[in-house]
Amino acid sequence: MDSTDETLGEIPLPPYVTAEDVTFALRAVRVHAAEHQPDGPRCRNDRAPHPCRLHRWGRRVLAERGLTDHDIQTMLAEQETPRP
Ligand SMILES: [Zn+2]
Repeated sequence: MDSTDETLGEIPLPPYVTAEDVTFALRAVRVHAAEHQPDGPRCRNDRAPHPCRLHRWGRRVLAERGLTDHDIQTMLAEQETPRP
C-alpha cells in the first residue's frame, strides 16, 4: 500500500463540476490507466497501486456528472479517435 495515498487522503471534488472539470477528469482517467504488473495492477503514470488518487478523483468527478462507466468508455474512445 502506498503510504502517501493514506496520508493525503482523497483529492477534494470541485464544489460544482463544470464541463472543464469533466475534460480534466477524462484526461486523468486516461493518463492514470491500469498497467498490469506481476504484483497486480499499477498506475501507468505514477506506479501507485491502481486505481491511484488521480484516477479515483477522475472517476468521482465523472460520477458526479451522472456519467456511467459505459459513458466514460465511450467518451475516452472518442477522445482517442480524432474525428475526420
Ligand atoms: Zn496515477
